[in-house]
Amino acid sequence: MPPPSKHMVEPDGRLASPLLEVRNLRVEFPTRRGTLVAVDGVSFAIMPGEILGVVGESGAGKSMTGNAIIGLLEPPGRIAEGSIWLDGERIDNLPYEKIRRIRGKRIGAVFQDPLTSLNPLYTVGRQLTETICTHSDMHHSQARKRAIELLAEVGIPAPDRRIDQYPHHFSGGMRQRVVIALALCANPELIIADEPTTALDVSIQAQIIALMKRLCHDHNTAVMLVTHDMGVIAETCDRVAVMYAGRIVEIGPVRQVIKSAKHPYTHGLMGSIPGFGKDVRRLTQIDGSMPGLTDTPSGCAFHPRCPQAMDKCRKVRPDLVPVEQSQIACWLFDEAKEMANA
Ligand code: SF4
Repeated sequence: MPPPSKHMVEPDGRLASPLLEVRNLRVEFPTRRGTLVAVDGVSFAIMPGEILGVVGESGAGKSMTGNAIIGLLEPPGRIAEGSIWLDGERIDNLPYEKIRRIRGKRIGAVFQDPLTSLNPLYTVGRQLTETICTHSDMHHSQARKRAIELLAEVGIPAPDRRIDQYPHHFSGGMRQRVVIALALCANPELIIADEPTTALDVSIQAQIIALMKRLCHDHNTAVMLVTHDMGVIAETCDRVAVMYAGRIVEIGPVRQVIKSAKHPYTHGLMGSIPGFGKDVRRLTQIDGSMPGLTDTPSGCAFHPRCPQAMDKCRKVRPDLVPVEQSQIACWLFDEAKEMANA
């Protein structure tokens, strides 16, 4: 298969290649009662230094997509179709050891629970220095100095003292700062951050998001930020992909999506968050819930919850079509395009 060839035009007119490209990804779970499809035909690209938000309710397939990229799908989950490319190199079919190395060095990970990434039996200094030594040719004393610098960079006070403490000596927010330092150890090109603030106090969430945004900007690290929170997306991301029932239903620049969300599901997500000039007393909720993997509706999977569903929506599944700077999978836009072309 040829390498990815999609390019984007930078503001100065140069062609830029995507850092990450996910093409037609399908993740399946074989079960005794048949095959469950968790991610179905998902394609997107992330440019170097770009922050792409992936948003949707629980069960939309966003974490599964992130896990597929870093080779952490839980068995029996498997990539059944499609491919994943990092800087022109295909990475979804690599042997375990190779993808493990890429995961540490070129792709960092920040998960919801900091204790998933930290070993409670080792000091944070040991975990940072070992990671730095594994992915560079620094010896121990240089790595320790670098670890202290990283702790300072992520806002840990008195880092030269705290480096010798264990994870349980840190608060939840401080632990997540350590995890971010750990993810940045090897200067990765991409960080997959899966609900990085969901487990934290609301007052700490904004600090962690601001920290991630600043560090990734300073290090020119791209981020795939998985969240259920459209407010976090609005504050952090350059572009956003909205997922529903394993598929992307809308993808485009954050400003455009927030200003004029087009897909009825994105409308629903936007209607449920305060801000953006809305009266908090008039926040709306999307009726119903995300379908399970065993009961995905026919046609457009959103049709049982969609206030604008038409007959066609129940029978035929819409694909993404370009609308302004975004892409939308909804018959309302396909029909509008056909009428405009008639
Ligand atoms: Fe609603 Fe139909 Fe659009 Fe699906 S395709 S979001 S059901 S209008």
